[in-house]
Amino acid sequence: MKSIASLKGKIHGKRVLVRVDYNVEIVNGRIVDKEKIIRTLATIKFLRSQGAVVLLMTHLGRPDGKRVKQFSTKQFISLLKKELSLLWLGDLNDKSPKVVSVLKPGQVGIFENLRFNPLEELNGSRLITQMKNVADVFVNDGFSVSHRKHASVYGIATKLPSFAGFALISELEAIAHTKRYMKCPSVAIIGGAKVSTKFKVIDSLCKRFDHVLIGGAMANTFYGALGYHMGASLVEKKFYKQSLSLLKKYAARIILPIDLVGRGEGKKWEALDIGPATQKLFTSYIAIADTLLWNGPLGKFEEKKFAKGTHVIAKALAQRSLGHAYGIVGGGETLTVVNKLKLSHSFDFVSTGGGALLEYLENPALPGLVVLR
Ligand code: ADP
Ligand code: MG
Repeated sequence: MKSIASLKGKIHGKRVLVRVDYNVEIVNGRIVDKEKIIRTLATIKFLRSQGAVVLLMTHLGRPDGKRVKQFSTKQFISLLKKELSLLWLGDLNDKSPKVVSVLKPGQVGIFENLRFNPLEELNGSRLITQMKNVADVFVNDGFSVSHRKHASVYGIATKLPSFAGFALISELEAIAHTKRYMKCPSVAIIGGAKVSTKFKVIDSLCKRFDHVLIGGAMANTFYGALGYHMGASLVEKKFYKQSLSLLKKYAARIILPIDLVGRGEGKKWEALDIGPATQKLFTSYIAIADTLLWNGPLGKFEEKKFAKGTHVIAKALAQRSLGHAYGIVGGGETLTVVNKLKLSHSFDFVSTGGGALLEYLENPALPGLVVLR
């Protein structure tokens, strides 16, 4: 994999298309946590210093191939005024080369949300050609999207000279370190809402870790599979069968919550956090672990009432990681929680990747990385 450092002295006036992951939460016109964005500044500053024309592209939210105003990346121009002076490039399409041609060396532009175009997630050739026509060089600086075989991550890298950005490289180095130094007992804590991405890797986590503690909507899915009434809780029924076979195969390794808290009754009952007994149980595993991996909030922490489980576990993890254990945490929302509680310095590494991190631990051949090699 070639680092952008090797572009030194070679890209003056060249158009460099950079895939970043600026998929952040925006509440009341404010970015809740800018960490993911700040980590890409080293790459952007380097490219600017080399006189490149820097073209940023990202997705934001889940617009599912349609134009959704709330998810326009145009808002980054004012939201990131302090960090970057950004020019607006509009949609990435056939007209883009003309739009980009007015940019001067050292200037930075940003395209409209990639996921307004259904071809992005489909890795569609028309969009890939449009990307190719707008740039001379491609850079991936979004580790957290590198497990996606999308046009801006995978397709474009097969068409242009492609390089890894500084943030991507430092994530890969830190994860390689974790894999080399894993000590027993090792504990993985998996929560969050992206059940379908994470289910794929539970099997390999169970092989690698002594215990796998499960919370969030992941746990709801296991409980649904076991026949518990989950009402309106977030579950993914298509993983019921797999849940049962995992529980059978790894009976001693998978630790499910023993109490859940939520709201509503009957059909409207929603499990939204782990309860106090589970907080204690999970903490007891964490307190003796020597390797810790955490991805995914244990509950719907955005609502104060359901943030307790996530906060208690985050603090227990930070404490153990600061003490004996090697602690690595990752994921978009997980990162937000860790920063909000000011715990990021307690961990050995904080990755921007959630799904990407878990998949990478299972198999480093992520689509977006393989094409860079
Ligand atoms: P990460 O970005 O850290 O990888 P995910 O994207 O998988 O994590 O999931 C984060 C989301 O999961 C949060 O927005 C949180 O509200 C949600 N979540 C966690 N537990 C539950 C639950 N029990 N019910 C509904 N949503 C949940
Ligand atoms: Mg997320």
